Amino acid sequence: MRRLLVLTCLVLVSAIAPARGEGRLNVVASFSILGDFVRNVGGDRVNVTTLVGPNSDVHVYAPAPADAKKIADARLVIINGLGLEGWLPRLVQSAGSKAAIVTATDSIVPRKLGVAADPHAWQSVANARIYVTNISESLSAADPAGAAAYRAHAQAYLAKLDVLDREVREAAAQIPPPRRKVISTHDAFGYFAAAYGIEFIAPLGVSTESEASARDIAGIITEIRTRKIPAVFLENISDPRLIGRISAETGARIGGTLYSDGLTDEKGDAPTYIDMVRHNIKALTSVLAN
Ligand code: ZN
Repeated sequence: MRRLLVLTCLVLVSAIAPARGEGRLNVVASFSILGDFVRNVGGDRVNVTTLVGPNSDVHVYAPAPADAKKIADARLVIINGLGLEGWLPRLVQSAGSKAAIVTATDSIVPRKLGVAADPHAWQSVANARIYVTNISESLSAADPAGAAAYRAHAQAYLAKLDVLDREVREAAAQIPPPRRKVISTHDAFGYFAAAYGIEFIAPLGVSTESEASARDIAGIITEIRTRKIPAVFLENISDPRLIGRISAETGARIGGTLYSDGLTDEKGDAPTYIDMVRHNIKALTSVLAN
């Protein structure tokens, strides 16, 4: 009898589990890093679509008509918040979407710059844990039958993030303290800096919307010389010419490319969040640690 009951349950479970493609929870993530988190937690119960794709700049994104369609079909739209997706409210409204908007940074204490919050909270792995937990809870609320699966996926992914966090700490500790300072294009690494003790100085602020003024650039050049900053880094979402010019004027070495606000495609160095953080710390230590 008990065996029959177990069998019946198994049949029921497989009947309500979503078939390939059909019946999956449609989730839109605003940009590539969030899309990767949602994929890891959602597994094959969730159909994830990303608005701002690989190597693209979420700060200055101009939504396309196809994005309105993606949002119209979604049950959940997962965003970073903290002012990152200024273009999103209008898109949601024009799509006439009834999707629930989920802010993945809920309960993260933002780094403040004047009155504005710094949106780049994902750059600390401890914060990434909070994103993943929030995403797991929101998927479970939208699809209660999948709650156990989402929790299990989240736990497995959080364990990988713990390993990653330790790796970054150990790598940063290899850099001699006077060399723990670099230049990047825009101020995207404030949370990384606070978590791992490497100072970042950027000619652009927390958004890429405005251009650096001649005075901003002159200030950076002076800082590189007086503080002997060993290296400058490009970003995959930003124009490389600004950093190229600063490097040429100061002789500071270009240390490679850091991935700040977007992943790469499958063939690139950072197709996932974990690859991105690993790439960045490797790029930093290979220039700074010797
Ligand atoms: Zn940014």
